[in-house]
Amino acid sequence: MKSTKPVLEIIGVDKHFGAQHVLKNCSLNVAEGDTVVLIGPSGSGKSTLLRCVNLLESIEGGAIFFRNQDITHVDIKPHRLRQDIGMVFQNYELFSHLTAAENIMLAPMTVRGVSRAEAEAQALELLGKVRIPDKADAFPDELSGGQQQRVAIARALAMKPKLMLFDEPTSALDPEMIREVLDVMADLSAEGMTSIVVTHEMGFARRAANHIVFMENGEIIENAPSDKFFGGEVSERAQRFLDQIL
Ligand code: ADP
Ligand code: MG
Repeated sequence: MKSTKPVLEIIGVDKHFGAQHVLKNCSLNVAEGDTVVLIGPSGSGKSTLLRCVNLLESIEGGAIFFRNQDITHVDIKPHRLRQDIGMVFQNYELFSHLTAAENIMLAPMTVRGVSRAEAEAQALELLGKVRIPDKADAFPDELSGGQQQRVAIARALAMKPKLMLFDEPTSALDPEMIREVLDVMADLSAEGMTSIVVTHEMGFARRAANHIVFMENGEIIENAPSDKFFGGEVSERAQRFLDQIL
């Protein structure tokens, strides 16, 4: 049985950029082990919502609870919170002067005080998990985009996050590399990693997500279990969006 312990509760969040209302009363719950796929047109507020969860943006109204703690009102240290919430972006931004293994070892050693030997053992294990066990000593420019993004995922996992946020992790990749990154993400979901994934890869959503959330103009229009969503119980607005991307 899957637990239903809430990892993340986004409650009535509001945000403007200047005069633009970019998040309108957004609410979303993510339980332990959930993979939520967040879809919606460009500019609908998907990245902003993820950035609010990671305290990269402030909110004006509402609240966000992470593991039952209000992270938006109390005195939470963003860098402390980000140890528990891993984020993977479109542009993986690895440290170019460090090898794959060193990229993964850096935060555990500097932030968590893990020994070099332990960090290295963990890095090698994580490189195996993201299916590039032989690339420990490669520098980023010696790796393909798909391999670099998998190092970025391993780097995020090295902090043993309780929640992973993926913001269009494959949209900068050549088509032949998308699959290898999605496969790694699907492995994580299958192992029970709680995650929110912004992606238009509906094949991944079908395979890995248990909830699909559709945003438009700053509003969460739809939040459906994936079997309902893919079973055809989709709002007209979400269907119109799907017709455009598929
Ligand atoms: P999505 O990820 O769904 O494409 P975003 O969350 O990036 O959407 O953006 C939502 C809206 O907020 C867009 O209209 C975008 O132009 C605007 N926006 C995002 N970031 C900023 C910012 N830092 N300053 C001003 N406007 C922003
Ligand atoms: Mg975005």
